[in-house]
Amino acid sequence: MNLGTRDYPKKTSHSEHAPGDGGRTGSWRVERPVIDQSLCIPCKRNKEACFICWLFCPEIVISRTIPPVIDLEYCKGCGICAEECPTKAITMVDESLLEQDKKEKE
Ligand code: SF4
Ligand code: SF4
Repeated sequence: MNLGTRDYPKKTSHSEHAPGDGGRTGSWRVERPVIDQSLCIPCKRNKEACFICWLFCPEIVISRTIPPVIDLEYCKGCGICAEECPTKAITMVDESLLEQDKKEKE
């Protein structure tokens, strides 16, 4: 008797996660990823390349576009994208500093 799933490809259900599955994870964030486009490979070459940040982001909130855009509503600030970026184009910036900067400009 075969107990594997190989013979039942159409009966095996699976789900794929999507942005927002974990709720509004942006509210967890204490640091924000900021992309320096002068270091980002697709921006520099003006063609689809790299996107390692897109591949590794556990919240799938980085677009595969030129430039890559981060949806801050769901970015939880884990820093994986910054860690994995081969050119160190992503810097994690303290949210409180950004807030302070915003207030000073107002
Ligand atoms: S991993 Fe870094 S260089 Fe590559 S697309 Fe993302 S930000 Fe740009
Ligand atoms: S910090 Fe980077 S890897 Fe983590 S959720 Fe935000 S965009 Fe994704």
